[in-house]
Amino acid sequence: MVGREVLPSEHPKKEVRQVLEKWADQGWKIHKDGHLGKLYCPCEARCTTIPVSGTPQNASSHARRIDRLAARCPLPDDSPLRTLTGKPRH
Ligand SMILES: [Zn+2]
Repeated sequence: MVGREVLPSEHPKKEVRQVLEKWADQGWKIHKDGHLGKLYCPCEARCTTIPVSGTPQNASSHARRIDRLAARCPLPDDSPLRTLTGKPRH
């Protein structure tokens, strides 16, 4: 994690904000990175990191994508999807 923590309420798009709030309630954290930030999963393996755009071209599809990716956590150790995070446990 790099930048400061970003709150879901800071997202300018309502659809995305709602999804971020839902996952933040489950322990996910957003940290500042680029335009807005990245969403980090709360599991021990930190298997999933999802880029969050502050200016998505299509807010509802961006929200759905975040929701879909977040639902995958926790990923199995050998899942190729883990590379999405770029942060293997070892
Ligand atoms: Zn995870």
